[in-house]
Amino acid sequence: MSTPSDDAEDMQVNPQRAAHLIEALREVTARIATADNHKRPIRLVAVSKLKPAVDVLALHRAPTSHVDFGENYAQELTEKAALLPRSIRWHFIGALQTNKCKPLAEQIPNLWCVSSIDTAKKADALEKGRAALVQREGEQEFKLRVLVQVNTSGEEEKSGVEPSDTAALCRHVRDKCPHLKLAGLMTIGAIARSKATSAETENEDFVALRDTRDMVAKELGIEAGELELSMGMSSDFEAGIAQGSDEVRVGTTIFGERPARKDAKVKEDREEEKS
Ligand SMILES: *Cc1c(COP(=O)(O)O)cnc(C)c1O
Repeated sequence: MSTPSDDAEDMQVNPQRAAHLIEALREVTARIATADNHKRPIRLVAVSKLKPAVDVLALHRAPTSHVDFGENYAQELTEKAALLPRSIRWHFIGALQTNKCKPLAEQIPNLWCVSSIDTAKKADALEKGRAALVQREGEQEFKLRVLVQVNTSGEEEKSGVEPSDTAALCRHVRDKCPHLKLAGLMTIGAIARSKATSAETENEDFVALRDTRDMVAKELGIEAGELELSMGMSSDFEAGIAQGSDEVRVGTTIFGERPARKDAKVKEDREEEKS
């Protein structure tokens, strides 16, 4: 049986593609530093959904040695995690079905953060999965970080918990889920607002997330600084940072436009591998 890193060593990274990705990652990193004025560390989650595993490998290897990668689909994350080194920190950022929570938390030891918790049921299922992993592997400190996703835009179809219900869910994670770590809050926000956001304008969704965070901290009796904010994607990450984000999730600006889901491939075709 091959280990994940053996598979990764077999993978052929196209040098031109790698150079392109490294350049794009460096540009985003520089823009983050400028937006932040180097005030505090900002985590960059490189969103690799629908992109092949070799793209992740290209950025995880030196010289960039990037560790944080975001995925949206349980099946795709499971396949990539099996192929790629364990030193990657995977972030699950997509809409998560309750029945996928336990297997993800149990089967992917380097699943580092689930950024899209919006029900106590999902938290409980992740808790069960991570508890089973800890029992099996005998690890002492193996808490899975979670962010509670907040529906800050009030759109019906958006996932995320209502701002007024956020504190109760956060309390549930903190008090009832010993194998999870309540790391903070996340929002996607309205696409239209995101597109209209510039470095100078305030995004209402980001204001709402910060207000929700302050309210949660107060209700839980902790410092606001103990709860991170994850807000900002390709179109608005600089504004997210200006408004206090600790983490940005950037896909298209690093990896380019994504293929349709039906055309996405984790592994390159055999023919392409050989040629
Ligand atoms: C896809 C996705 C991103 C990245 O979006 P880009 O516009 O490609 O940067 C960020 N966050 C979430 C939750 C996503 O689903």
